[in-house]
Amino acid sequence: MQKIKNFPKIDGELGWYETSPSREVTLGRRLKGDHTFDIAIIGSGYTGLSLAHRLAENHPEASIAIIDALRVGQGTSGRNAGFIIDLPHNLDAGQPDVEHDRQLHKLNTFSIERLRGFKDRYNIECSWQNAGKYMAAHESSNLGGLDSFVTTLKSSNFEYQDLDALDLKKRLGTDYYQRAIYTPGNILMNPSSLVRGVAAALPKTVHLFEESPIISCEYGHPHILTAVGGTVRAKLLIQTTNSYTEEFGLLSNRLAPVFTYASLTESLNDADYEAHFKDVQPWGLTSAHPAGTTVRLTPDRRIFIRNVLDFEPSLSSSNEGLHKAWIQHRKSFEQRFPNLRKTKFEFTWGGMLCMTMNHQSVFKKADDNLFVVGGCNGVGVAKGTYLGYYMADYISGIRSANLDFILGNSNPSWVPPDPIRTLGARMRLSYESRNAGGDI
Ligand SMILES: Cc1cc2nc3c(=O)[nH]c(=O)nc-3n(C[C@H](O)[C@H](O)[C@H](O)COP(=O)(O)OP(=O)(O)OC[C@H]3O[C@@H](n4cnc5c(N)ncnc54)[C@H](O)[C@@H]3O)c2cc1C
Repeated sequence: MQKIKNFPKIDGELGWYETSPSREVTLGRRLKGDHTFDIAIIGSGYTGLSLAHRLAENHPEASIAIIDALRVGQGTSGRNAGFIIDLPHNLDAGQPDVEHDRQLHKLNTFSIERLRGFKDRYNIECSWQNAGKYMAAHESSNLGGLDSFVTTLKSSNFEYQDLDALDLKKRLGTDYYQRAIYTPGNILMNPSSLVRGVAAALPKTVHLFEESPIISCEYGHPHILTAVGGTVRAKLLIQTTNSYTEEFGLLSNRLAPVFTYASLTESLNDADYEAHFKDVQPWGLTSAHPAGTTVRLTPDRRIFIRNVLDFEPSLSSSNEGLHKAWIQHRKSFEQRFPNLRKTKFEFTWGGMLCMTMNHQSVFKKADDNLFVVGGCNGVGVAKGTYLGYYMADYISGIRSANLDFILGNSNPSWVPPDPIRTLGARMRLSYESRNAGGDI
């Protein structure tokens, strides 16, 4: 029997969840008593929900359980920056692989359309915007990241605009950045509202259990999952627990979960909004440096800031970690918007990027009737959506070129065990953060 040691926790004040119009809606129930299903899925983030939807389409007669330790929208899927990216980011100076980049773009676009379909069909209120994305640099030393990105875009004929400081001042309402590459295909949204909407759209054959951490798994025929006061037995089990995947014992030394933090300000008052953002459309910006700051101006007039990278083998944050992140967020915010110093942060929270060394994801059959998907490498809204969908097809025996591509690119490389993993990761993250300079 596999006992789980580390569990997801709330990790601060979850801004997107708290501001979501659907936060009071009851989606699932706690797992109490003994239940039997054909299929069980652990994890109700973008990956698990996409998998559940597609499995239900492929097998309308099957009974499916999807179980999460938290409420839908409280996990990492509801804590992220809300970018549904369409393009691969190639920030290192490596040669672009055109075929690979085009295939990733095709898969990301597939996810965007799948999520757009749910949003339209079920009227999901999630502040969806076809806003595109800026990748920007403040420091001259980080302009190289933009050049590499342009090389990737040009090689594959992806559309982009190259913007200087003056254009950016007009379009962003800050003169902090000297150059940015704008690409139009990215979507911005409230990630907690969208993932909750996708859960609310599950068909009747899918039973959602929330606030029900799985504390042990007995793999067999059937698999038995135990929560406090309840069990689920199922013939087929799929784990979509991303950063927590190694807890379940089917994978080891493949994942490097990196903690990062985000803050959301209060809504700006009319005077401040007019003074800074008159004629500016809500926008989203990532950094030309991998350790740099992600920033958004949201449709409800808030500023979102994400930065700080830390390695926490316990898979949860401390109040001290949250406070340190808050201090860095204030600094990054005030550098970009010096005249908004009086604007407070209403929410600060943490979450994990589930990284792998070679950026390939986990997409594997661990045993008969036992599958694992994870390692979304910080772009899991799009990636988790297509990995979940194609895992359902893989299980159902539906082959396609997209599935073959995923199968051929799902071999995450080895990560050394602790303490070397933690030491190595902390050294690398601190080096990257120092190098980012004013782009943090
Ligand atoms: C601050 C931040 C900003 C980010 N920005 C972006 C972005 O803009 N765009 C983007 O695409 N990605 C972004 N990411 C990454 C993105 O959020 C993840 O890649 C995505 O959430 C992965 O989805 P998932 O469904 O695979 O995993 P998760 O969302 O982590 O879902 C896994 C679920 O498993 C559950 N679980 C774990 N253990 C157990 C257990 N024992 N019992 C029951 N349930 C369990 C968890 O509660 C969780 O809900 C960001 C991440 C962070 C932290």
